[in-house]
Amino acid sequence: STKLAARVQAVKPSATLAITARANALRAEGKDVIGLGAGEPDFDTPEHIKAAAIAAIENGFTKYTAVDGTAGLKQAIIDKFKRDNGFDFTPEQILVSCGGKQSFFNLAQALLDPGDEVVIPAPYWVSYPDMSLLAGAAPVFIHAAADQSFKITPAQLRAAMTEQTRLVVINSPSNPTGMAYSRAELEALGEVLRDFPRAVIASDDMYEHIRWDDAPFVNILNACPDLAPRTLVLNGVSKAYSMTGWRIGYAAGPVDIIKAMKKVQSQSTSNPASISQAAAQAALEGPQACIGEMLTAFKARHDLVVERLNAIEGIECLPTDGTFYVFPKVQGLIDRMPGINTDLELAEFLIETAGVALVPGTAFGLPGYARLSIATSRENLEQALERIANACAG
Ligand code: PLP
Repeated sequence: STKLAARVQAVKPSATLAITARANALRAEGKDVIGLGAGEPDFDTPEHIKAAAIAAIENGFTKYTAVDGTAGLKQAIIDKFKRDNGFDFTPEQILVSCGGKQSFFNLAQALLDPGDEVVIPAPYWVSYPDMSLLAGAAPVFIHAAADQSFKITPAQLRAAMTEQTRLVVINSPSNPTGMAYSRAELEALGEVLRDFPRAVIASDDMYEHIRWDDAPFVNILNACPDLAPRTLVLNGVSKAYSMTGWRIGYAAGPVDIIKAMKKVQSQSTSNPASISQAAAQAALEGPQACIGEMLTAFKARHDLVVERLNAIEGIECLPTDGTFYVFPKVQGLIDRMPGINTDLELAEFLIETAGVALVPGTAFGLPGYARLSIATSRENLEQALERIANACAG
């Protein structure tokens, strides 16, 4: 067979996308599978956002735009940062990309060289390690399990940092754990980061709006404004506005890094789809009530799922701060199930025997756990939990 590049041999396909594909394939065979693997809201994109896209098509807004995004969308992003986060960014500090995924990809390509290290708290969003590897850098993991609410401590961060550390990732609220860092926790991490001036910080705020508590959102830049010259804020419309298929994410930060990221994008995808940009602008400028409606549903489902999971012997599930995931510890279940030795085998057993697809914790760098998405109907969730309880009974 064809010899492929070393860079591509070093990475694996996204495990979460693979589970969803597996569940779909089983369904196509006629099996009844409830998918709890998906990383996207189950709601439709709000009407006013779709209308803006339709208008864009009808008005002929269907050509190349500026590589880094239209002036209108960039202004809407600047206004969003002012409104929600209290930040003052200029247009040169903003880059619009094809999803949050491309934002991080551009950053990795623009910043990392072989020999560089990327500090990644585990469990992590599956793409951080592989995108770092694709850029030739080495991921360095900090493990934070349920006993520390899945949040890294300043001492752990200090122990992981070296002269080679080029990038540190903070994702709060977190995919897959649903946990968010408090201002005090971020201040303490910032104390450590101040001692390592070579390290750039990526604050992935993709789940900013999907939180239960009423306190304002805080990221590392709110907690430590002095880190602004080396902090990138990554965000997007995919999760907050149920727009995963439109592929719009954005990055904001130091002009030199944004410029380098833009150069990478100019030689790969060019601009994100013009029509999607028009829709994203409408999402950011329009009424924000659609977010609240989704949140109410997610919170009710979260409460249901956490309670039901904890009622199953061998499963321990912490309530989350937000996102549409829960990340229970399933080691006790693995220990008491004959013939099942790992979270991978448990996930395999559940998809085959119970018809429930979830993602094993190993995919996120933390064995002994599993991620369940609550972005599906309450009926589906009730049925899935009942199936899991029955399959694992006795
Ligand atoms: N960041 C995190 C933490 C995510 O969970 C995701 C999506 O799963 C993304 C970024 C990228 O989102 P998208 O590329 O769909 O905009």
